[in-house]
Amino acid sequence: AKADGRNTFRLFAEQMNAEVKDRKEMLADMREALDNNGFQLAFQPQVQLADQSIVGSEALLRWHHNDRGQVSPSRFIPVAEQGGLIVDLGEWVVGAACDQIGLFDKMGLPPIRIAVNISSVQFRRGNLVECTKSILDRTGVSPDRLEFEITESVVMTDVDKAIKTMQELDTIGVRLSMDDFGTGYSSLSYLRQFPIQKIKIDKSFVQNIEIEENSMEIVNAIIGLSRSMNITVVAEGVETEGQLAKLKEAGCEVVQGFYFGRPMAAQDFESWMGDWHKE
Ligand code: C2E
Ligand code: CA
Ligand code: CA
Ligand code: CA
Repeated sequence: AKADGRNTFRLFAEQMNAEVKDRKEMLADMREALDNNGFQLAFQPQVQLADQSIVGSEALLRWHHNDRGQVSPSRFIPVAEQGGLIVDLGEWVVGAACDQIGLFDKMGLPPIRIAVNISSVQFRRGNLVECTKSILDRTGVSPDRLEFEITESVVMTDVDKAIKTMQELDTIGVRLSMDDFGTGYSSLSYLRQFPIQKIKIDKSFVQNIEIEENSMEIVNAIIGLSRSMNITVVAEGVETEGQLAKLKEAGCEVVQGFYFGRPMAAQDFESWMGDWHKE
């Protein structure tokens, strides 16, 4: 039994080492990718249900690794956060999104808004406001074309400081959206103090909306709350006709999900938009 325990421990330690080594390698490869145009953005449409128009698009980070293949951001973002790379990577995302807004405009796409995800580390530690300002200056993009998605946990760690940062972003004209809403530990009473224009209902609720009464109730509550505060509600992760019907019934205004469109490379998004408006 003693030997067993020792073996179990050794196995555990080996796995730990492998994980540490893997993260280290991944971090180094991300640094290199950042210097060599190795990251891309994928764009997923947001559909306004009232008139079926595309009102925006979320830009999602994509990384193709030579050996690993496509690596999920859920895997590499935490590594970038812990390894101190997220501020540079996040800055690249904002810059690339603004560059793409300019390119979409040149192609003649309707002037939709592009949303980018802001990591908690980037929101708290980086000089996010200054950096955003200079990117907007450099690219000449109008601030209201840019939206930042932040999560509740980002905001709730230091509420006063977060409100200050949000207000500064609001002042320069960047839009703010509360991502993954309902999953965190935010107090609804705080919501009124936040200068946000959008709430995104987390996909975990959307995906249970047909099978779990509790999820439907949460969705209804979030929609009611947002209405009373004049905040736009976006439901994310919409995959089925049935989910869409439920969301319409609940009064949801904007939806995003595989049902309408997957995240697409910029060129594919452009042609997708063309097809959408033809129909
Ligand atoms: P998120 O911000 O909640 O993004 C939504 C995720 O749901 C995306 O996964 C998207 O591809 C996926 N999704 C969209 N529609 C559907 C659907 O109908 N069904 C299902 N099952 N999934 C759907 P993705 O692209 O793998 O990103 C995962 C997470 O990684 C994001 O979650 C976000 O937290 C993070 N992330 C992605 N890009 C960035 C970035 O540029 N910066 C930062 N800080 N985080 C990012
Ligand atoms: Ca998001
Ligand atoms: Ca989300
Ligand atoms: Ca999420």
